[in-house]
Amino acid sequence: MGIEEKLPAGILLTSVEKLVNWSRKSSVWGATFGLACCAIEMMAAGGPHYDMGRWGMEVFRASPRQADLMIVAGRVSQKMAPVLRQIYDQMAEPRWVLSMGVCASSGGMFNNYAIVQGVDHVVPVDMYLPGCPPRPEMLIDAVLKLREKIGHEPLGPNGRKMLEARKARGDVP
Ligand code: SF4
Repeated sequence: MGIEEKLPAGILLTSVEKLVNWSRKSSVWGATFGLACCAIEMMAAGGPHYDMGRWGMEVFRASPRQADLMIVAGRVSQKMAPVLRQIYDQMAEPRWVLSMGVCASSGGMFNNYAIVQGVDHVVPVDMYLPGCPPRPEMLIDAVLKLREKIGHEPLGPNGRKMLEARKARGDVP
């Protein structure tokens, strides 16, 4: 009897998925750009005091092609929206978006025609972080939660949809 007949169905695929997700979540590189005051807290999170390098995030990449995570740190003006979308489109899959602060998530205090009322009108958002501004510890906490999500993401183009289905079934937290 071959080994594949002795192993439970899907065991190899599951192990590859875990390995790939472990490597993905252990090296989430952010795209370098900030939009407003929230970006100052994001920069502090990358500095030696908070040291996001502990989770494989010591580098923020100037090229979107080398970045996995877009942290939208600050309010998004209507003029900036197409630029932000272009950066997102230039990032390779799999890619994730973290909306940092109330302005990025909903427009915040800037309830006017010049500001996009939530960056999810422009790009899909994986994690929302409240606060004005959120402290670096809060950003790190959000990134750790996102890493948890990445760790459970099924491989393949429909990975995110499958993750939602797994969550609905209660298979993953
Ligand atoms: Fe600035 Fe607060 Fe808006 Fe962040 S949430 S961009 S700190 S006003």
